[in-house]
Amino acid sequence: MAAVLLAAATAFIASTLPPRHLTLADPAPDLTIPGVIHVHSSRSDGRGTPDEIARAAAQAGLKFVVITDHGDGTRNLDPPVYRDGVLCFDAVEISTSGGHYIALDMSASPYPLGGEARDVVDDVKRLGGFGIVAHPDSPKDELRWRDWAAPFDALEVVNLDTAWRQHAAGTSWRERLNLAGRLLSYPLRPAESIASLVQTSTIWDQWSALAKRRHLVTLPGADAHARVGWRRTVDPADADVSAPLPSYVTSFRTLSVHLRTERALTGDAGVDARIIMRAIRAGHAYAAIDGAASPPSFDFTATNGHGTVHTGDEISAGGPLTLHVRSNAPPDFTTTLWNGATMLPGDHHEQDFSVEVPEGDGIYRAEIRAARPFQAVPWLISNPIYVRVPVIELPVPAILIPPETSLALFDGSSLTGWTVEQDPTSLGAVEVVDTGITRQPALRWRFGLSSGAAGGQFVALIADLPHGVTTSDRVAFTVRAERPMRVSVQLRTDHDRWQRSVYVEAFNREGTVLFDDMLPAGPTATIKPPLADVRSLLFVVDTTNTKPGTSGLIWITDPVLQAEPK
Ligand SMILES: [Zn+2]
Ligand SMILES: [Zn+2]
Repeated sequence: MAAVLLAAATAFIASTLPPRHLTLADPAPDLTIPGVIHVHSSRSDGRGTPDEIARAAAQAGLKFVVITDHGDGTRNLDPPVYRDGVLCFDAVEISTSGGHYIALDMSASPYPLGGEARDVVDDVKRLGGFGIVAHPDSPKDELRWRDWAAPFDALEVVNLDTAWRQHAAGTSWRERLNLAGRLLSYPLRPAESIASLVQTSTIWDQWSALAKRRHLVTLPGADAHARVGWRRTVDPADADVSAPLPSYVTSFRTLSVHLRTERALTGDAGVDARIIMRAIRAGHAYAAIDGAASPPSFDFTATNGHGTVHTGDEISAGGPLTLHVRSNAPPDFTTTLWNGATMLPGDHHEQDFSVEVPEGDGIYRAEIRAARPFQAVPWLISNPIYVRVPVIELPVPAILIPPETSLALFDGSSLTGWTVEQDPTSLGAVEVVDTGITRQPALRWRFGLSSGAAGGQFVALIADLPHGVTTSDRVAFTVRAERPMRVSVQLRTDHDRWQRSVYVEAFNREGTVLFDDMLPAGPTATIKPPLADVRSLLFVVDTTNTKPGTSGLIWITDPVLQAEPK
């Protein structure tokens, strides 16, 4: 009986064993710098120390690694440093209510980053960081990205955590059997087993719609933890059982990002960090699934009357366009060219070919797929070449029609209509003061969140609105705090709350919150606030963006309800 079972298991493994990794001839090295982005260390839910991670990256032949432990952005990132010949970057993966966002190259935030995705994207940009949407197409609801309108900088188009989850969540028995086969073949061919789980991303339609309008970098994310936790949730502490699977070195042999840098690395960590970050920000990059074949060599250019450009770059339309691909892909691999979400006709198996397309705007990218039966594995994914009038990315101010009617919420001298609420452990107070050179009256609101673990601490400054807000569609105010922070502006009925957070500086800034732009704070009966039933307007400091134990002062001048002219 045992012998029969063993024979059956052996036959099953043999029938599903992924093909052995191909070592490719590299007749013309493409001089790209290989590295890996999105790695967790023991600082959050990963298994290894930065030293162990660097050693694994060196073993896999990588030149840089970006460690992205979970955090709220308030920690000063460690300066880049060489370990074992691998340039190690410190970065952070931030949890938002709309998915996970990785911030590279960012200065420390004065307050915890969190809450709505659009606010975190905004904050990362303000702090000088470069933000990557992590695992946007994860089958797990709380890991999937949900805010496609936010101006994020980059998208992960491959993620190894998503790859195995897609199989585990698959509805067909074939997908689950496939995953079981990979677990069995893992000890024999680790990188091949993980690589064969990678499938085409499901976010190319979203990418295409967005990249038509703006520069949007695509990157692979290893999401390497060197552990798989059963019952693993967003909170790493919830993993009670874990296995060191896949190991860091296996993850790093499975997938890499290759950067085309402006100059060769110098060996000086500070200088090299600038060289690498410039290439990442520019999208001078391609993703490679090394577990199928390596080392890759790849170049993709577009030429028209204006010249020749590489991936990540923009060129104006000018006459017919020649797309040129050169790679060391084996002949049974398939190269396809894409304009946005549309594949150009024709499969290519040559290592060097050109295709001419008619004049016009386009976003062109190349993808090379592995050989059958693993043709679903995208072995190589390029960033796009943008053919269009260069997009100058200046923030476009929102069109606000000057409001017509307004209702002053503060009479300039008394606290009539204003109160403060807080949880039983925190402190809050409000008084009327004169501020600035003009001695303008303001509401000075004092808050002190109690210390300890975040557990619902809040302090709220509240304006009574006994008649609802039916004659207005927004609240406008001037606000300043002692230091940069986020304040949540909310509407409350007898049962529910809706909110929109605003960034507050250490100097006076005008703020406007449209009621239509508010989202439910917790479960609500309706998506939008029922304006006739609103009973109060709240300014709230809570643990979403303020650390427990923090106290401070906020000045609010001229709070008014306004409406668009009829
Ligand atoms: Zn994540
Ligand atoms: Zn992660």
